[in-house]
Amino acid sequence: MTEKHYGGASAHGLKKDVARQDKKQLSLTSSIKSSKVDLAANNHNESDESYLKAGRIASQVVEFAKSIVKKDVKLLEIAERIEAKIVELGGKPAFPVNLSMNEVAAHDTPAWNDERKATGLLKVDIGVHINGFSADTAFSVDLEGNEENELLIEAAESGLEHGISAVKKNAQVSLSQIGKAIESAIKAKGFQPIQNLSGHSIEEYNLHSGITIPNIDNNSDKVLDEGVFAIEPFATSGLGKVRDGRLSGIYSLQKPGSVRDAFARDVLEFIVKEYQTLPFCSRWIQKKFGSRGLLALRQIEQTGILHPYPQLIEVGNGKVAQAEHTLIILGNEKVVTTE
Ligand code: MN
Ligand code: MN
Repeated sequence: MTEKHYGGASAHGLKKDVARQDKKQLSLTSSIKSSKVDLAANNHNESDESYLKAGRIASQVVEFAKSIVKKDVKLLEIAERIEAKIVELGGKPAFPVNLSMNEVAAHDTPAWNDERKATGLLKVDIGVHINGFSADTAFSVDLEGNEENELLIEAAESGLEHGISAVKKNAQVSLSQIGKAIESAIKAKGFQPIQNLSGHSIEEYNLHSGITIPNIDNNSDKVLDEGVFAIEPFATSGLGKVRDGRLSGIYSLQKPGSVRDAFARDVLEFIVKEYQTLPFCSRWIQKKFGSRGLLALRQIEQTGILHPYPQLIEVGNGKVAQAEHTLIILGNEKVVTTE
């Protein structure tokens, strides 16, 4: 999954809102996990091991996904097989598999009764977590033998390669230096980076934990410190920006709350326990609880405690390719976990 940000006059206020939301998510995460809260340094090794394991599984799942993604296979079948593979290999999905086609840049996942088939330029975005420690990785594939699609994919991959190279071992790098490396690699291939989508820092049960890794030179002299980060360039033949599209059926819990209906309460309890603050989707709720679950989900949504994710659409309807890896920066180590 990716992070969209908002430009223009209201950006400042919105950023503050997002920061507040992040804080809420963090405190929600710790309250949910209050029985075993331990974010202290002595927990580092266990968390690093989990990050690495999640990355190894994600990388195997990517290979599997590449073998099953073919033109005209149902998106639903692709998503379910990828998610089943994650579980088979000992992980859990950190978010619903995103299968976004053509001008849809991100945050499209099949509904439980989805009939759509894979076609065009398909982005496959996969998340794996081990006890809340996540790996986030994505690749794109051309399903229509289109040369421009191939070039867009090359541009996104080149952006990722240059972005990762910009993160030097044992040297602090500014966010704008990473963004600049990504931007120039994509432009060198004749395309635009999507300027309002970015990579992100990752923390326990928190996929977007506050720091954004830009895909353009944003003049930020903020320096990348230790931590876990996803770098994810998007290359487009369009205008280089996304807007919100229709709702995707992907949600995440953004604050504690309750519902009156007893069955909806069971569903909410399941969401809190199973996904905590990680994204989930209506398809998963339908699978677990049937169509009653979908009604319950609507009731929970109406209480305002869920964040619904819209699809993200390129504003010029240009096609979009994405590439993504997760890396750990620790002291003088830089490890790409999802390679
Ligand atoms: Mn991501
Ligand atoms: Mn992703």
